[in-house]
Amino acid sequence: MHDDKNCIFCKIISGEIPGSKVYDDKNVIAFRDIQPAAELHLLFIHKEHTVNINEMMMKHPKQLIEIFEAINQFTSENDLINKGYRIISNVGKNAGQSVFHTHFHLLSGKRLGGIN
Ligand code: 5GP
Ligand code: ZN
Repeated sequence: MHDDKNCIFCKIISGEIPGSKVYDDKNVIAFRDIQPAAELHLLFIHKEHTVNINEMMMKHPKQLIEIFEAINQFTSENDLINKGYRIISNVGKNAGQSVFHTHFHLLSGKRLGGIN
C-alpha cells in the first residue's frame, strides 16, 4: 500500500498512532472521529493514500467502490439503514477539509441537524 509519512490517517492505518477502529478489511478501515459531531461519527478511509475523492476517482476509481462496499456492510450490520445516516466528504480547505487523506464521514444517532 502507498502511504504518506506525514499523513495522520496513514499513521492510524499502520498502527503508528492509535485509532479506535470499528471496521477493518483488506482495503478499508473505519474508526471513530476524535471530535465527534454526532452520537456516532466515523471516518471511512482506503488503506492507500490519496488526497481527495477527485484524485481517487482519477487514479483508482475502484477504491470508491471498495469504500462504499465497506459502508454498505457496516451500515447493514449495525442497523444504520433503519436508524438513518449521512455520508460527507469535504474537498479543500473552504469546504472544511483538514486531513488530506481521502475520507468519508459517517454521521448517525439522534435526529441530525441540517447540513449547515
Ligand atoms: P475533515 O475536516 O478533513 O473533513 O475531517 C477530518 C476529521 O478527522 C475531523 O473531523 C477530525 O476531528 C478528525 N481527526 C483529526 N485528527 C484525528 C486523529 O488523530 N484521530 C481521529 N480519530 N480523528 C482525527
Ligand atoms: Zn494518508
